[in-house]
Amino acid sequence: MKYAVLFMVVIGVLLFVKRGQQQRARQKSSQMRARPMAPEPMHACERCGVHVPASRCVWKDGSAYCCDDHARLG
Ligand SMILES: [Zn+2]
Repeated sequence: MKYAVLFMVVIGVLLFVKRGQQQRARQKSSQMRARPMAPEPMHACERCGVHVPASRCVWKDGSAYCCDDHARLG
């Protein structure tokens, strides 16, 4: 009998935790829908012309490059 009560308590706690996780996941997805990612400016590589997002550009002397090799070659 003692174990049956303990088992029911454990099941209750697991269901409670699971419901909390689902609510958090739902809130997170609705936040992501409400606030879409801002578009990132693209820059053309001075060497090969490939367009690269600003956050991934390699900058050298004010010019954008797609990789370290092209930045070194100029
Ligand atoms: Zn390049």
